[in-house]
Amino acid sequence: MLKRVNRVALIGAGFVGSSYAFALLNQGITEELVLIDVNKSKAEGDAMDLNHGLPFAPSRTKIWYGDYSDCKYADLVVITAGANQKPGETRLDLVEKNSRIFKGIIEEIMASGFDGIFLVATNPVDILTYAVWKYSGLPKERVIGSGTLLDTARFRFLLGEYFDVDTRNVHAYIIGEHGDTELPVWSHADIAGTSLTEWTKNKASFKQEDLDTIFLNVRDAAYHIIERKGATYYGIAMGLVRLTKAILENENSVLTVSAYLDGQYGHKDIFIGIPAIVNRNGIKKVVELDLSEEEKLKFSHSADILKKSMDLIFNK
Ligand code: NAD
Repeated sequence: MLKRVNRVALIGAGFVGSSYAFALLNQGITEELVLIDVNKSKAEGDAMDLNHGLPFAPSRTKIWYGDYSDCKYADLVVITAGANQKPGETRLDLVEKNSRIFKGIIEEIMASGFDGIFLVATNPVDILTYAVWKYSGLPKERVIGSGTLLDTARFRFLLGEYFDVDTRNVHAYIIGEHGDTELPVWSHADIAGTSLTEWTKNKASFKQEDLDTIFLNVRDAAYHIIERKGATYYGIAMGLVRLTKAILENENSVLTVSAYLDGQYGHKDIFIGIPAIVNRNGIKKVVELDLSEEEKLKFSHSADILKKSMDLIFNK
């Protein structure tokens, strides 16, 4: 009998998708990777190009350009297809365009017999993750959005730079909408187990305004990058690979993803960025942080903004 191997199906081989494929190949995380895109020649060209890198890869990955029938045996379908933000456009502006594209894509994937986990990165990611859950009929645990994964990474990077500490030793979360209403959870930010309040006590040059600026630079990072190079893709691609690894290797890792809330944080029937434990079954558990009163208010505001958009699209 043939041994089952991990298969990832990537829908959308644009900037984000092809960067993800490249990073995935370089980390040797999956045995099979199928690329699917409405622009067939782009996906085909990427498959050829990536295959030529195999002699330099850490392990063998079978990569090919395919179609939706290849999703049947996929463990994970990663969606990065759709329109991206144009300069001046918010992520929420993309909602109608991309939810229309998504309906068709999800119908085709489900028609293949797919029964794995969805990972969504297309914007507005929280709303489109909800759309994937609705259109697919899969259990909520098996539909994951990239949520504030990238925002949290940007936050940890900037805090690490500011405090001159390795970003991997900085623990701090951005939660809420992956977009303009997201918020930093200052009340649970720490460096090596020491709260930021404690850490900053003896830092003569420390100014509270610096932290406010750091958050603004996190929140507006996509705008700053899009102004300069038209799109953002390396950071999110590496974040998606991190999530892929957590799923396929059953890591039980805590990552800030867009997950379904069923009463946690006082909200229901919404996908939104929060820390969650991720493993081979998808979302194992939403981690409920004990937010400060101010954080609770900001989180509710963010959830309300998302709900308004979801209601419009799904006629709730
Ligand atoms: P892109 O335009 O480079 O790529 C999109 C790809 O989707 C294209 O190759 C296009 O042919 C394909 N596509 C369009 N319609 C399709 C369909 N019906 N079926 C299959 N493929 C289809 O865009 P990009 O820069 O790669 O961005 C992709 C998405 O990722 C955007 O929505 C962007 O906003 C989002 N994004 C998310 C994050 C995040 O943190 N979640 C970060 C960066 C970008």
